[in-house]
Amino acid sequence: MSEAPKDIEHLIDLMARLPGLGPRSARRAVLHLIARRGQLMGPLGDAMQAVAGTARECLNCGNISTTDVCGICEDDARAQGQICVVEDVADLWAMERAAVFKGRYHVLGGTLSALDAIGPEDLGIPRLIDRVATEDVSEVILALNATVDGQTTAHYIADELEGKVSVTSLAQGVPVGGELDYLDEGTIGAALKARRGV
Ligand SMILES: [Zn+2]
Repeated sequence: MSEAPKDIEHLIDLMARLPGLGPRSARRAVLHLIARRGQLMGPLGDAMQAVAGTARECLNCGNISTTDVCGICEDDARAQGQICVVEDVADLWAMERAAVFKGRYHVLGGTLSALDAIGPEDLGIPRLIDRVATEDVSEVILALNATVDGQTTAHYIADELEGKVSVTSLAQGVPVGGELDYLDEGTIGAALKARRGV
């Protein structure tokens, strides 16, 4: 199947499992690494080993961390009474890149899905309800994806928290820099619904 020695073939097989990399890109990546094994492959191997040994999920919010409780949860300056609920860590990082939210997070690790048999317990929703009950929380902001599963999950959480805390969700609509002519009907409809006074 391949001309590469067994060890290298094994590495290619592992790399090909990464998101966005198929066998062809994996072969190219591995050849690139081997050509730069001093500057890149060695340090990459060391870094992977280090993170593999320390990476874990924050016991409080589910964020990726190298300690039991993540830096955001430990930061007293971020105890603003707001919890922003996101589907995964990539979404948390996206929120952090925007640098506008100063509260804390709750990472679900996915969305509810009857098809894949993913229930509330699989997503840490009971833990979120527990946080609302025990932490000083004034608002839960649902920053879930505007997909069917994302919105189903948002409705479920809103129902569970009803009467316990104020629940809001991100507005849906016209993206910054977006032109109406290029938007689909669903986005225009959502933008019209979420209109506000100027
Ligand atoms: Zn945390």
